[in-house]
Order: sequence, then C-alpha cells, then structure tokens
Amino acid sequence: MSGNRNGTVEVVVVGGGYGGVTAANRLARRDGVSVTLVNPRAEFVERIRLHQLVTGSDDAVQGFGHVLGAGVRLVVDTATRIDAAERRVVLAGGDPVPYDYLVYAVGSGAADPGVPGAAEFAHWVSDLEGAERLRATLEEAPESAAVIVVGAGPTGLETAAELAETGRKVTLVCGAVLGPSLHARVRRPVARRLARLGVTVLEGAGAQVTEVTAGGVRLGDGREVAGAVTVWTAGFRVPDLAAHSGLRTDSAGRLLTDATLTSVDDVRIVAAGDAGVMPEHPFRMSCQAAVQLGPAAADTILRRIAGKSPAPVRMFFAGQCLSLGRKEGVTQFSYPNDKVNALSISGRTGAGVKEVACRFTLNKLVSGARKAGRNAGQQAGSRPDRDDTTDRPTPSDARPAA
Ligand SMILES: Cc1cc2nc3c(=O)[nH]c(=O)nc-3n(C[C@H](O)[C@H](O)[C@H](O)COP(=O)(O)OP(=O)(O)OC[C@H]3O[C@@H](n4cnc5c(N)ncnc54)[C@H](O)[C@@H]3O)c2cc1C
Repeated sequence: MSGNRNGTVEVVVVGGGYGGVTAANRLARRDGVSVTLVNPRAEFVERIRLHQLVTGSDDAVQGFGHVLGAGVRLVVDTATRIDAAERRVVLAGGDPVPYDYLVYAVGSGAADPGVPGAAEFAHWVSDLEGAERLRATLEEAPESAAVIVVGAGPTGLETAAELAETGRKVTLVCGAVLGPSLHARVRRPVARRLARLGVTVLEGAGAQVTEVTAGGVRLGDGREVAGAVTVWTAGFRVPDLAAHSGLRTDSAGRLLTDATLTSVDDVRIVAAGDAGVMPEHPFRMSCQAAVQLGPAAADTILRRIAGKSPAPVRMFFAGQCLSLGRKEGVTQFSYPNDKVNALSISGRTGAGVKEVACRFTLNKLVSGARKAGRNAGQQAGSRPDRDDTTDRPTPSDARPAA
C-alpha cells in the first residue's frame, strides 16, 4: 500500500518537458495525490521552437506558472540518482525527495556525433543552452558567413530553412537522403522550398560528415565544405540517469518499460516521453508522443493507486509538421501508427498548420494547468530560495497562450 501517514500518495516527476508537465498536471487533479516536479530550471522550454530562438522569431520559453498547476510543487534542481530501494530522488543541490511513485521524464538532448572535431567545433539546437550559444555565435559572425547544417531530419530541415530565410548562406549536408522520415513524394516540396531559399543541399552516399574543423566539414567522399559555423542536428541522446541509477535501459540509454510505461525493474517507476522505450511498441522521439505519454504515465500510476491494473498505452499520430522558415512549411500526414503516407500540405498553409500545432500543444499544457489549479510552486514545502523565481514574468508570459 502506498501513501504517507496522512494517506497522501507522493509522486515525483523528474523532468519538466512536455511529458513531465502533462503527467504532473494530470496527477495533481486527483485528491490524495501530492505531486512534486523536479526540473533544472524555473522555466518550461518549448523545445519545438528552439530553431526559432536561433533566429530570434521566438524565445522558446514559458514561465512554469503558465503551464503547471497549483497542485504541483516545483523544485528547481537536477536529479543525480534515483534510489529505487529507498524510494527517493537524490538531487544535485537539495535534500533527497521521497516518493511512492516516480515519473521518469528527463527527455533528450543533442547526440554525441562521435565524429572528430564535432565536440570542439559543432553547435546544436536540441537544448536551450545549445540554441542560445548558436544564436550568440551567429550574431557575432558576419552576415555573409557560411553556415553548414548537418542532418536532414526534421530538426535539420527546420534549422536550415529558418537560417536561410534570414539571409544566411546555408549548406545542408544530408548524410544520405533529404528528409529520411518523409514520404518520397513529400520530399519534393521540401526540396523546392529549400532551393528557393538558396540552400545548397548535399545528398548521397558520399555526403556523410567524417570530420568537423574550425573552417567547415570534411565528407566521406573527400569533399571539403567551407563554413564559419557548423550546426549538428542529427540524432538525440537521452540523459544517463536511469542507467546510472541501476535501472535497465536499451542501448540508447532509454528506460526499458512494458506497454503500461512501467519500468521492467520497478513497478513504482513509470516513464513519459523521449527518455523511455517500450520495445514492443516503439515510438518516434517527439513532442507528439510525449504529450500522449505524459497523461498515460499518470493514468498508469492512478490506476495502481486505485488498486487496478494499468492499461497498455495507445498512441495516435497525425503526421509531421515542418516549418520551413516563417513563411512556408510542409505538413506530412501519416497513418495513426506514424507510418507516413503521400499526403501533404505545403506553402503558406503548411506554415499555418505548423504554427497552429505549436500553439495547440502549448494550449494543451495551459488547459492542463488550469484543471490542476494555477500558479505552480505555491504549495507548502516549496523551497523559497529557488521557487521564488517560478512566477517571475518572462517575455513569453506576456504573449497570449495562443
Ligand atoms: C528544434 C526542435 C524542433 C522540434 N520540433 C518538433 C516537432 O515539430 N514535433 C515534435 O513532435 N517534436 C519536435 N521536436 C522533438 C521534441 O521537442 C522532443 O521530442 C520533446 O521535447 C520530448 O519531450 P520530453 O518531455 O520527453 O522531453 P524534454 O522536452 O526534452 O524535457 C525533458 C526535461 O527534463 C529535464 N531534465 C533532464 N535531465 C534532468 C534531471 N537529471 N533532473 C531533472 N530534470 C531533468 C530537462 O531539463 C527538460 O526540462 C523538436 C525538437 C527540436 C530540438
């Protein structure tokens, strides 16, 4: 049986991204459940807008007071270990936080390319710090400085187009094919848009980067591409918290779970978002998956608390929305199982669909917060030295929730 002496069940959510926030808000609606969310910063990062942060068309952050309900206690700190035997989360800065159930939602960040020179010379957009550094570097570079974007998945395509639309000279190094996750027919409008923006696209077997240097990249076929700034977008890597805590992971470090998102090692640990994996039901690391997995993780815990068996997760995908600069975009439709089909919307309408999708996602968090109450971090037990920043207005607080 779970619960402290008051009968309250303590749930700790580690990670305040799309998965963690949606899980926390859902859990906090339930009487008798106390929710603590641990996140390294007092702001929610809208990762799906980080390529916009680079060019300044969005700041990609929201105050947690906007997206997290009053029923959730926010602790601004980093989890360094999950002590499953003692049921507590060890923090970098503060006292360990005990739990009855834990949501593992630490997300993902930039992958280590494992290519000589990349760690030293390449930038990335996968997390806030990387995107901010890239923006600062570009601001210092002359406008004529050539930029190389490595990787032609969604993040690479969006980043290349965003930069080119602001007048940057961009070369996109695809590795093999432009838009590997897209249907062959849908790659065409993407390629046309990039061509109109003046992006040089390098595709084919030889277009694999083998080295990054201060002055550009070297390709597998021996070609050298000159560039003042290189942005590496290929692949995401998850934090090693689960493995470091002795929990079983897949080879990429994602927490291994069953079809109810429950850790294969511990019935009290449930994953949400990029940092977990259901080997029987693989899913693409995405915001689209994370906002479904967060509430599903919460439901698994709530059912266990109620003494019921949790239900297997069911996910539905609609497609992939790409912004190709601010003025155009491409929406790639898919079957509910995420397999892409030949249907797409491109041009201005495609850009509109992408913007609506971003706003809809944020709205989902905001309405979840409303249902769970307002003004995160106001509960007794919040540490004032850190939580006093929680409700500090940010530039993005000023704009409508959309
Ligand atoms: C530029 C860009 C554009 C994208 N566009 C799209 C898109 O259009 N559609 C789409 O579906 N996906 C998109 N994605 C992918 C999407 O952003 C991620 O898949 C999604 O953010 C995953 O959500 P999450 O909640 O699992 O993790 P995250 O959003 O990564 O959140 C994880 C949180 O956990 C915190 N954390 C990490 N370690 C710890 C720790 N030890 N202790 C405490 N907290 C910790 C992190 O700081 C972070 O706040 C895009 C990604 C990028 C970079």
